[in-house]
Amino acid sequence: MIVVMKADAKAKEISDVIAKVRSSGYVAHLAESDEGTIIGLVGESDTPLNVDDYTSMPGVARAERVKAGYKLASRAFHPRDSRVPLNGSHMGADKVLVIAGPCSVESRTQIIEIACAVKEAGATALRGGAFKPRTSPYSFQGHGEKGLQWLAEAREVTGLPVVTEVMDPGLVPMVCQYADVLQIGARNMQNFTLLNAAGESQHTVLLKRGMSSTITDLLMAAEYVLAHGNQRVMICERGIRTFETATRFTFDLNAIPVLKSQTHLPVIADPSHAIGLREHVEAVSMAAVAAGADGLILEVHPDPEAALSDGRQSVALDDFKVLMENVRRVAQAVGRTA
Ligand code: PEP
Ligand code: MN
Repeated sequence: MIVVMKADAKAKEISDVIAKVRSSGYVAHLAESDEGTIIGLVGESDTPLNVDDYTSMPGVARAERVKAGYKLASRAFHPRDSRVPLNGSHMGADKVLVIAGPCSVESRTQIIEIACAVKEAGATALRGGAFKPRTSPYSFQGHGEKGLQWLAEAREVTGLPVVTEVMDPGLVPMVCQYADVLQIGARNMQNFTLLNAAGESQHTVLLKRGMSSTITDLLMAAEYVLAHGNQRVMICERGIRTFETATRFTFDLNAIPVLKSQTHLPVIADPSHAIGLREHVEAVSMAAVAAGADGLILEVHPDPEAALSDGRQSVALDDFKVLMENVRRVAQAVGRTA
Protein backbone atom coordinates (compact mmCIF):
# COMPACT_ATOMS: atom_id res chain seq x y z
CA MET A 1 0.00 0.00 0.00
CA ILE A 2 1.10 3.60 -0.50
CA VAL A 3 -0.05 6.58 1.50
CA VAL A 4 0.22 9.90 -0.35
CA MET A 5 0.41 12.87 2.02
CA LYS A 6 -1.00 16.27 1.07
CA ALA A 7 1.56 18.73 -0.31
CA ASP A 8 1.10 20.90 2.82
CA ALA A 9 1.11 18.00 5.32
CA LYS A 10 2.86 18.88 8.58
CA ALA A 11 5.94 16.95 9.75
CA LYS A 12 3.92 15.65 12.72
CA GLU A 13 1.20 14.30 10.40
CA ILE A 14 3.83 12.45 8.35
CA SER A 15 5.50 11.03 11.46
CA ASP A 16 2.11 9.93 12.83
CA VAL A 17 1.49 7.89 9.66
CA ILE A 18 4.97 6.36 9.88
CA ALA A 19 4.39 5.48 13.54
CA LYS A 20 1.10 3.78 12.66
CA VAL A 21 2.80 1.79 9.87
CA ARG A 22 5.49 0.61 12.27
CA SER A 23 3.13 -0.21 15.11
CA SER A 24 1.15 -2.38 12.65
CA GLY A 25 4.33 -4.36 11.95
CA TYR A 26 5.17 -2.98 8.48
CA VAL A 27 8.23 -1.15 7.21
CA ALA A 28 7.79 2.44 5.97
CA HIS A 29 9.80 3.73 2.99
CA LEU A 30 9.60 7.40 2.09
CA ALA A 31 9.68 9.08 -1.33
CA GLU A 32 9.03 12.64 -2.46
CA SER A 33 6.65 13.44 -5.32
CA ASP A 34 5.07 16.56 -6.82
CA GLU A 35 1.88 15.65 -4.95
CA GLY A 36 3.59 15.34 -1.58
CA THR A 37 5.50 12.82 0.53
CA ILE A 38 4.68 9.21 -0.32
CA ILE A 39 4.95 6.55 2.37
CA GLY A 40 5.28 3.00 1.02
CA LEU A 41 4.27 0.14 3.32
CA VAL A 42 6.11 -3.12 2.78
CA GLY A 43 6.77 -6.29 4.71
CA GLU A 44 4.59 -8.87 6.34
CA SER A 45 2.41 -8.56 9.42
CA ASP A 46 -0.64 -10.23 10.89
CA THR A 47 -2.35 -6.83 11.11
CA PRO A 48 -4.56 -6.49 8.01
CA LEU A 49 -3.96 -3.39 5.92
CA ASN A 50 -6.99 -1.15 5.65
CA VAL A 51 -6.92 1.80 3.25
CA ASP A 52 -9.59 3.67 5.26
CA ASP A 53 -7.46 3.57 8.44
CA TYR A 54 -4.97 5.79 6.63
CA THR A 55 -7.24 7.99 4.48
CA SER A 56 -8.93 9.18 7.66
CA MET A 57 -5.66 10.44 9.19
CA PRO A 58 -4.88 14.19 9.13
CA GLY A 59 -2.59 15.30 6.29
CA VAL A 60 -3.30 12.23 4.15
CA ALA A 61 -4.42 12.94 0.54
CA ARG A 62 -5.09 9.32 -0.40
CA ALA A 63 -4.03 5.73 0.21
CA GLU A 64 -4.07 2.91 -2.31
CA ARG A 65 -3.00 -0.68 -2.61
CA VAL A 66 -0.17 -1.48 -5.05
CA LYS A 67 -1.11 -4.72 -6.74
CA ALA A 68 2.24 -5.46 -8.38
CA GLY A 69 4.61 -7.74 -6.45
CA TYR A 70 7.23 -5.00 -6.69
CA LYS A 71 6.41 -1.85 -4.76
CA LEU A 72 9.54 0.17 -4.01
CA ALA A 73 10.59 -0.21 -7.66
CA SER A 74 7.24 1.07 -8.94
CA ARG A 75 6.38 4.51 -10.28
CA ALA A 76 3.31 4.52 -8.02
CA PHE A 77 5.55 4.63 -4.96
CA HIS A 78 8.21 6.86 -6.49
CA PRO A 79 6.84 8.97 -9.38
CA ARG A 80 10.06 10.92 -9.99
CA ASP A 81 13.02 9.40 -11.83
CA SER A 82 15.64 8.08 -9.41
CA ARG A 83 19.12 9.35 -9.98
CA VAL A 84 22.05 7.13 -9.17
CA PRO A 85 25.34 8.98 -8.59
CA LEU A 86 28.17 7.95 -10.91
CA ASN A 87 31.45 9.81 -11.23
CA GLY A 88 30.08 13.28 -10.48
CA SER A 89 27.09 12.75 -12.80
CA HIS A 90 23.85 10.84 -12.24
CA MET A 91 22.48 7.84 -14.10
CA GLY A 92 18.84 8.72 -14.71
CA ALA A 93 19.42 12.45 -15.32
CA ASP A 94 19.51 14.30 -18.68
CA LYS A 95 22.94 13.08 -19.66
CA VAL A 96 23.11 9.57 -21.13
CA LEU A 97 26.06 7.93 -19.36
CA VAL A 98 28.25 5.29 -20.95
CA ILE A 99 30.00 2.48 -19.07
CA ALA A 100 32.65 0.89 -21.28
CA GLY A 101 35.49 -1.60 -21.05
CA PRO A 102 36.45 -5.16 -21.88
CA CYS A 103 34.32 -8.18 -21.19
CA SER A 104 37.11 -9.60 -19.01
CA VAL A 105 40.02 -7.95 -17.26
CA GLU A 106 42.89 -9.76 -19.00
CA SER A 107 45.97 -8.02 -17.64
CA ARG A 108 47.05 -4.87 -15.82
CA THR A 109 48.24 -3.19 -19.01
CA GLN A 110 45.13 -4.19 -20.94
CA ILE A 111 42.70 -2.68 -18.44
CA ILE A 112 44.73 0.52 -18.00
CA GLU A 113 45.06 1.02 -21.77
CA ILE A 114 41.31 0.52 -22.25
CA ALA A 115 40.41 2.73 -19.28
CA CYS A 116 42.45 5.61 -20.72
CA ALA A 117 40.93 5.17 -24.18
CA VAL A 118 37.29 5.00 -23.05
CA LYS A 119 37.79 7.97 -20.76
CA GLU A 120 39.15 10.01 -23.64
CA ALA A 121 36.18 9.01 -25.79
CA GLY A 122 33.81 10.29 -23.07
CA ALA A 123 32.84 7.22 -21.03
CA THR A 124 31.69 7.87 -17.45
CA ALA A 125 32.67 4.52 -15.94
CA LEU A 126 34.88 1.51 -16.64
CA ARG A 127 33.54 -2.04 -16.90
CA GLY A 128 35.55 -5.25 -16.76
CA GLY A 129 34.89 -8.72 -15.40
CA ALA A 130 37.21 -10.30 -12.83
CA PHE A 131 34.78 -13.13 -12.04
CA LYS A 132 33.27 -14.42 -15.26
CA PRO A 133 30.07 -16.48 -15.50
CA ARG A 134 31.06 -18.58 -18.53
CA THR A 135 28.71 -21.04 -20.17
CA SER A 136 31.54 -23.57 -20.49
CA PRO A 137 33.60 -24.43 -17.39
CA TYR A 138 36.64 -24.70 -19.71
CA SER A 139 36.41 -21.07 -20.90
CA PHE A 140 38.47 -18.30 -19.25
CA GLN A 141 36.94 -17.74 -15.81
CA GLY A 142 38.56 -14.39 -15.01
CA HIS A 143 41.54 -13.36 -12.87
CA GLY A 144 39.52 -13.05 -9.63
CA GLU A 145 40.92 -10.75 -6.96
CA LYS A 146 44.00 -9.95 -9.07
CA GLY A 147 41.61 -8.62 -11.72
CA LEU A 148 39.87 -6.47 -9.11
CA GLN A 149 43.22 -5.00 -8.08
CA TRP A 150 44.02 -4.12 -11.69
CA LEU A 151 40.59 -2.49 -12.03
CA ALA A 152 41.28 -0.41 -8.93
CA GLU A 153 44.62 0.65 -10.44
CA ALA A 154 42.87 1.66 -13.66
CA ARG A 155 40.50 3.78 -11.57
CA GLU A 156 43.46 5.45 -9.89
CA VAL A 157 45.01 6.29 -13.24
CA THR A 158 41.81 7.57 -14.91
CA GLY A 159 39.41 8.47 -12.11
CA LEU A 160 36.76 6.28 -13.76
CA PRO A 161 34.57 4.35 -11.31
CA VAL A 162 34.65 0.58 -11.70
CA VAL A 163 31.67 -1.62 -12.61
CA THR A 164 32.35 -5.34 -12.15
CA GLU A 165 30.35 -8.52 -11.72
CA VAL A 166 29.92 -10.38 -8.46
CA MET A 167 28.57 -13.93 -8.69
CA ASP A 168 28.84 -15.16 -5.12
CA PRO A 169 27.10 -13.60 -2.10
CA GLY A 170 30.15 -14.49 0.01
CA LEU A 171 32.33 -12.35 -2.25
CA VAL A 172 30.19 -9.20 -2.05
CA PRO A 173 32.34 -7.64 0.73
CA MET A 174 35.54 -8.31 -1.25
CA VAL A 175 34.19 -6.95 -4.53
CA CYS A 176 32.85 -3.87 -2.68
CA GLN A 177 36.42 -3.10 -1.54
CA TYR A 178 37.53 -2.62 -5.13
CA ALA A 179 34.43 -1.76 -7.15
CA ASP A 180 32.12 1.24 -7.24
CA VAL A 181 29.23 -0.67 -8.82
CA LEU A 182 28.31 -4.33 -8.28
CA GLN A 183 27.08 -5.91 -11.51
CA ILE A 184 24.64 -8.78 -11.08
CA GLY A 185 24.66 -10.72 -14.31
CA ALA A 186 21.87 -12.16 -16.41
CA ARG A 187 22.59 -15.67 -15.14
CA ASN A 188 22.23 -14.51 -11.54
CA MET A 189 19.25 -12.19 -11.82
CA GLN A 190 17.18 -14.49 -9.64
CA ASN A 191 19.94 -15.54 -7.28
CA PHE A 192 18.02 -14.19 -4.31
CA THR A 193 20.82 -14.77 -1.81
CA LEU A 194 23.08 -12.65 -4.01
CA LEU A 195 20.41 -9.95 -4.42
CA ASN A 196 19.99 -9.81 -0.64
CA ALA A 197 23.74 -9.58 -0.08
CA ALA A 198 24.03 -6.78 -2.66
CA GLY A 199 21.09 -4.99 -1.03
CA GLU A 200 22.66 -5.24 2.42
CA SER A 201 25.99 -3.93 1.14
CA GLN A 202 24.37 -0.55 0.29
CA HIS A 203 26.74 -0.47 -2.71
CA THR A 204 25.45 0.74 -6.10
CA VAL A 205 24.03 -2.19 -8.08
CA LEU A 206 23.69 -2.74 -11.84
CA LEU A 207 21.15 -5.51 -12.26
CA LYS A 208 20.93 -7.24 -15.63
CA ARG A 209 17.80 -8.83 -16.98
CA GLY A 210 17.91 -12.61 -17.12
CA MET A 211 17.91 -13.92 -20.67
CA SER A 212 14.61 -15.74 -20.07
CA SER A 213 13.09 -13.30 -17.61
CA THR A 214 10.10 -11.07 -18.10
CA ILE A 215 10.12 -7.36 -17.36
CA THR A 216 8.12 -8.10 -14.20
CA ASP A 217 10.67 -10.71 -13.11
CA LEU A 218 13.39 -8.07 -13.51
CA LEU A 219 11.50 -5.52 -11.42
CA MET A 220 10.83 -8.13 -8.73
CA ALA A 221 14.57 -8.89 -8.62
CA ALA A 222 15.33 -5.17 -8.26
CA GLU A 223 12.81 -5.07 -5.41
CA TYR A 224 14.98 -7.54 -3.44
CA VAL A 225 17.83 -5.01 -3.48
CA LEU A 226 15.56 -2.04 -2.74
CA ALA A 227 13.90 -3.86 0.16
CA HIS A 228 17.21 -3.57 2.05
CA GLY A 229 17.00 0.21 1.87
CA ASN A 230 19.57 0.26 -0.95
CA GLN A 231 18.17 2.75 -3.42
CA ARG A 232 21.14 2.86 -5.75
CA VAL A 233 19.94 0.38 -8.33
CA MET A 234 20.19 0.57 -12.14
CA ILE A 235 18.53 -2.04 -14.30
CA CYS A 236 19.80 -3.28 -17.61
CA GLU A 237 18.21 -4.74 -20.74
CA ARG A 238 20.83 -7.05 -22.27
CA GLY A 239 18.86 -9.16 -24.73
CA ILE A 240 16.58 -12.13 -24.32
CA ARG A 241 16.43 -15.60 -25.83
CA THR A 242 14.13 -15.95 -28.81
CA PHE A 243 14.00 -18.32 -31.78
CA GLU A 244 16.37 -16.02 -33.71
CA THR A 245 19.87 -17.39 -34.27
CA ALA A 246 21.36 -14.65 -36.50
CA THR A 247 22.17 -12.62 -33.39
CA ARG A 248 23.44 -13.74 -29.98
CA PHE A 249 20.25 -12.67 -28.17
CA THR A 250 17.34 -10.44 -29.20
CA PHE A 251 17.60 -6.90 -27.89
CA ASP A 252 14.21 -6.10 -26.39
CA LEU A 253 13.82 -2.48 -27.44
CA ASN A 254 10.24 -2.59 -26.15
CA ALA A 255 11.57 -3.12 -22.64
CA ILE A 256 13.15 0.35 -22.54
CA PRO A 257 9.97 2.48 -22.69
CA VAL A 258 7.98 -0.12 -20.74
CA LEU A 259 10.54 -0.18 -17.92
CA LYS A 260 10.73 3.62 -17.93
CA SER A 261 6.97 3.80 -17.44
CA GLN A 262 6.79 1.12 -14.74
CA THR A 263 9.80 2.03 -12.65
CA HIS A 264 11.67 5.12 -11.49
CA LEU A 265 15.00 3.29 -11.59
CA PRO A 266 17.53 4.26 -14.28
CA VAL A 267 17.38 1.96 -17.30
CA ILE A 268 20.57 0.98 -19.09
CA ALA A 269 21.01 -0.91 -22.34
CA ASP A 270 23.69 -3.47 -23.16
CA PRO A 271 23.74 -3.75 -26.96
CA SER A 272 27.01 -5.76 -26.89
CA HIS A 273 25.60 -8.88 -25.27
CA ALA A 274 22.22 -8.42 -26.95
CA ILE A 275 23.25 -8.47 -30.59
CA GLY A 276 26.65 -10.09 -30.09
CA LEU A 277 28.06 -8.65 -33.35
CA ARG A 278 30.42 -5.69 -33.07
CA GLU A 279 29.44 -4.20 -36.45
CA HIS A 280 25.88 -3.68 -35.20
CA VAL A 281 26.54 -2.54 -31.64
CA GLU A 282 26.46 1.13 -32.68
CA ALA A 283 23.04 0.85 -34.36
CA VAL A 284 21.49 -0.82 -31.32
CA SER A 285 23.15 1.71 -29.00
CA MET A 286 21.58 4.58 -30.96
CA ALA A 287 18.19 2.84 -30.97
CA ALA A 288 18.33 2.30 -27.20
CA VAL A 289 19.11 5.97 -26.56
CA ALA A 290 16.34 7.05 -28.94
CA ALA A 291 13.93 4.79 -27.01
CA GLY A 292 14.82 6.48 -23.71
CA ALA A 293 17.69 4.52 -22.18
CA ASP A 294 19.50 6.46 -19.45
CA GLY A 295 22.82 4.79 -20.14
CA LEU A 296 24.73 2.19 -22.10
CA ILE A 297 27.16 -0.53 -21.06
CA LEU A 298 29.47 -1.51 -23.90
CA GLU A 299 32.30 -3.95 -24.46
CA VAL A 300 35.43 -2.54 -26.08
CA HIS A 301 38.84 -4.09 -26.70
CA PRO A 302 42.10 -2.92 -28.36
CA ASP A 303 42.30 -6.19 -30.31
CA PRO A 304 38.82 -7.74 -30.33
CA GLU A 305 39.89 -10.86 -32.24
CA ALA A 306 42.36 -11.70 -29.48
CA ALA A 307 39.98 -11.03 -26.55
CA LEU A 308 39.77 -13.82 -23.94
CA SER A 309 35.97 -13.48 -23.89
CA ASP A 310 33.24 -11.95 -26.04
CA GLY A 311 35.63 -10.75 -28.77
CA ARG A 312 32.98 -11.08 -31.48
CA GLN A 313 30.88 -8.37 -29.84
CA SER A 314 33.70 -6.14 -28.63
CA VAL A 315 34.17 -2.84 -30.44
CA ALA A 316 37.71 -1.68 -31.31
CA LEU A 317 38.91 1.48 -29.56
CA ASP A 318 38.78 3.70 -32.68
CA ASP A 319 35.29 2.47 -33.54
CA PHE A 320 34.20 3.22 -29.99
CA LYS A 321 35.09 6.90 -30.50
CA VAL A 322 32.86 7.03 -33.59
CA LEU A 323 30.10 5.21 -31.73
CA MET A 324 30.23 7.80 -28.94
CA GLU A 325 29.89 10.63 -31.47
CA ASN A 326 26.85 9.03 -33.06
CA VAL A 327 25.25 8.25 -29.71
CA ARG A 328 25.75 11.90 -28.75
CA ARG A 329 23.91 13.01 -31.88
CA VAL A 330 20.96 10.75 -31.11
CA ALA A 331 20.93 11.89 -27.47
CA GLN A 332 20.69 15.51 -28.63
CA ALA A 333 17.91 14.63 -31.09
CA VAL A 334 15.80 13.30 -28.20
CA GLY A 335 16.49 16.24 -25.90
CA ARG A 336 19.33 14.77 -23.90
CA THR A 337 23.11 14.99 -23.84
CA ALA A 338 25.76 12.26 -23.86
C1 PEP B 1 29.09 -9.37 -19.03
O1 PEP B 1 28.69 -8.22 -18.78
O2 PEP B 1 30.22 -9.62 -19.48
C2 PEP B 1 28.11 -10.47 -18.90
C3 PEP B 1 28.50 -11.70 -18.63
O3 PEP B 1 26.84 -10.05 -19.11
P1 PEP B 1 25.44 -10.87 -18.98
O4 PEP B 1 25.31 -11.22 -17.54
O5 PEP B 1 24.42 -9.86 -19.45
O6 PEP B 1 25.55 -12.07 -19.88
MN1 MN C 1 30.82 -10.17 -21.86
